[in-house]
Amino acid sequence: MNTYNASQIDTQINVQPVKEMLETAGMYGNYGGAYVPEVLASQLTKLAAFFDSEVQKSEFQRQFIHYLKTFVGRPSPLFKAENLSEAIGATIYLKREDLNHTGSHKINNAIGQILLAKQMGAKEVIAETGAGQHGVATATAAALLKIPCKVFMGAVDAERQLLNVKRMELLGTKVVITNEGRATLKDAVDAALGYYIENPESFYLLGSQVGPHPYPKMVGYFQSVIGNEAIQQIVRAEKRLPDAVFACLGGGSNAIGAFSAFLPETEVKLYGAEGGGKNVFNHTAATLTYGKPSVFQGTYSYCLVDEENNPMASESIAAGLDYPGISPQHASLKDSGRATYEPITDEEAQEAYRLLAKLEGIIPAIESSHAVALAIKKFKNTGKLAIVNLSGRGDKDITRDI
Ligand SMILES: *Cc1c(COP(=O)(O)O)cnc(C)c1O
Repeated sequence: MNTYNASQIDTQINVQPVKEMLETAGMYGNYGGAYVPEVLASQLTKLAAFFDSEVQKSEFQRQFIHYLKTFVGRPSPLFKAENLSEAIGATIYLKREDLNHTGSHKINNAIGQILLAKQMGAKEVIAETGAGQHGVATATAAALLKIPCKVFMGAVDAERQLLNVKRMELLGTKVVITNEGRATLKDAVDAALGYYIENPESFYLLGSQVGPHPYPKMVGYFQSVIGNEAIQQIVRAEKRLPDAVFACLGGGSNAIGAFSAFLPETEVKLYGAEGGGKNVFNHTAATLTYGKPSVFQGTYSYCLVDEENNPMASESIAAGLDYPGISPQHASLKDSGRATYEPITDEEAQEAYRLLAKLEGIIPAIESSHAVALAIKKFKNTGKLAIVNLSGRGDKDITRDI
């Protein structure tokens, strides 16, 4: 009989962000920068310098890694989805960000930025939220690290994600609802930016790899633990690199987190699944597929725009993907061809959502289901090896009849 040996449990995975993610002054090829009013420009310059010096300090890294391990529960498992693999004729590993405390990858970045806010002596953090995942992650980290918190949310999102509104309130956060525009993520960002301009002494905790420098750099760095763990886990499990890594894209933070460690490994293909919506112009959130390079919400990147080049409302079944902008780093990876981005329709995502639940006993977020769907599309009957980043759990989506 085999005896249980606790030392067999692997705790040696390196819970460290990827240092190469710090090698930018805010430009990714032609994209990025900081297009903001003067009041914010000086704040952001300060923030950029503070981030650059703070993250190099061993005390900051020690604290960040401490909370990732003891509070978030990292490293997250890399799970071989054998039933799914058999069903589709390819080997699929799932990076289980859904198992993080609060149920998605968002907590990695929230902890990193709140530690930074505390170090800077901020009196309050503010954040925007779409699906409510970033709001909950921020409210959670704010409770843990004892700092007052306000979260801005579109009224439409607040209604479709009521449970997360209740969660944030329970955690002691003030949820500020906006009815502007289509009352979704873009409008929540506008409301939060508006508040920040009037209250520049608060710390704006941005939830995705978007916005002006230094946010794409900070968020990319804090999320790079995902890929850093995954590359070690896959090599341990399969003694080789995967053929591809798949992730979904809202603003691009879980995808850059999953891709980062693989960027130098050019034989590993990188695939981003966009929120295709109905997959026609005007009814989509697939920014890199249907958008154009423009300045939007503080950064130069792709954006969904109308005939007059004004930012347009996005549309996706997944609140977390329902955003007309995108990370400048992904814009650059698209142009260079290092990564490939394709839209997944609402229906394709729903199909993958149900399939994974039935086959593996894992209910993925409808956002993450886009990545699963793209992996199936690309790797069906190829016998290839893929990692799919399961960015979050689907409990929030169950009551919506998907
Ligand atoms: C917010 C969210 C996303 C999209 O945001 P990214 O910044 O693109 O990662 C994807 N999946 C889940 C579960 C989310 O909560």
